Amino acid sequence: MRILKVGSKGTDVMEIQSLLKKIGYNPGPIDGDFGQQTKNAVIQFQRDNGLDPDGIIGPQTYTVLDVLLRGYDEYYVQPGDTLWKIARDYYTTLNKVIAANPGVNPYQLQIGQRIIVPYGIDVVDTDIDYTYEIMERDIAGLKARYPFIEVGVAGESVLGKKLYYIKLGDGPNQVFYNGAHHSLEWITTPLLMKFTENFLKSYTDGKNIRGYDLEQIWDNSSIYIMPMVNPDGVDLVLDGLSTDNPYYNELIDWNNGSSDFSQVWQANIRGVDLNHNYPARWDESKEREIAMGITGPGPTRYGGPFPLSEPETETVTEFVKNHNFRLVLAYHTQGEVIFWQFEDLQPPVAKTIGDMFSKASGYRLAEITGIGAYAGMKDWFIQEYRRPGYTIEAGLGKNPLPISQFDKIYNDNEELLLLASIV
Ligand SMILES: [Zn+2]
Repeated sequence: MRILKVGSKGTDVMEIQSLLKKIGYNPGPIDGDFGQQTKNAVIQFQRDNGLDPDGIIGPQTYTVLDVLLRGYDEYYVQPGDTLWKIARDYYTTLNKVIAANPGVNPYQLQIGQRIIVPYGIDVVDTDIDYTYEIMERDIAGLKARYPFIEVGVAGESVLGKKLYYIKLGDGPNQVFYNGAHHSLEWITTPLLMKFTENFLKSYTDGKNIRGYDLEQIWDNSSIYIMPMVNPDGVDLVLDGLSTDNPYYNELIDWNNGSSDFSQVWQANIRGVDLNHNYPARWDESKEREIAMGITGPGPTRYGGPFPLSEPETETVTEFVKNHNFRLVLAYHTQGEVIFWQFEDLQPPVAKTIGDMFSKASGYRLAEITGIGAYAGMKDWFIQEYRRPGYTIEAGLGKNPLPISQFDKIYNDNEELLLLASIV
């Protein structure tokens, strides 16, 4: 953690601004720019927490903020405690404390026993640039609050970042949702993360979402979610190129001499467009690339030296092979469009389901042509399994879509995400 003060800029500043706002301070706009208003909010926070009120986030202030960022505290039971009293002292709910401590008998608390106390605030923020580090902390935060979920690592990116998955439910109907194959389309990661959190929150409270019975979904389905397929690319877009990147010189070269990746880079860290790297008419895709003048690594549309040349696509295909998925959703942006075909290999029911998705989301069901028609994740899934697979292009505008579009994207897709687990 670097020291943050007036003049600091970046996704880490944005994350702290969002947190300060969430817990009742006024840091000004959540823009990743540490100005006077953010400093005033930090000073107020420091005063309230017995810290030196210098308006600078150094190690001591960060230690206090970090507990809030991960969303829970570890508490050791004192004489006279009850779970209810602990929940009240932390301004959280008894339900949240019980869910986070499944092995603890509320009537037989032991002095010195360790209790996880989730805060009243949500874990997943949806008003910030959502980096790999933020996702990783949020996954740990969700796992602490909802220890009954399965969290795993399916593989690693080129730079060794973990390709996490989260499993919701325990039933035989397995489905697979993934996001952020494309770096600029990182907003699909908080979409899937927020869906996960809202699902778990309502499930543990015994509530429905949009009339969907979550307990029934939990018992009948297993929803596997891989929120960020391309973490190296996402971080390159959001945090910029760091000097210790092993591909530093090549990346600038592949990016036509520019060190600004924030508006153009869709590929992974080796300049391979992951959604053109699947073995589904890959040769056809390659021919079209060459016709477009793309002959090597770059920001977009280079399908790699051979199919599955990249660890990210290799991980996704292995993950699929090791399960029995009835359906997959690959989330992208933008266009508010749902693609559902590949070479007419999809089963007849794919259109019926696609129509249901279209109705639930307001997105258009469409046929695809051109280079986008080959070598993608859903193409490979349809080809191999002859089961329904969809590319969902969320949101409107120009990539990267601003996080201000999040609420609309979430509202449009929440029902679709529920529906896909039961159709
Ligand atoms: Zn895309």
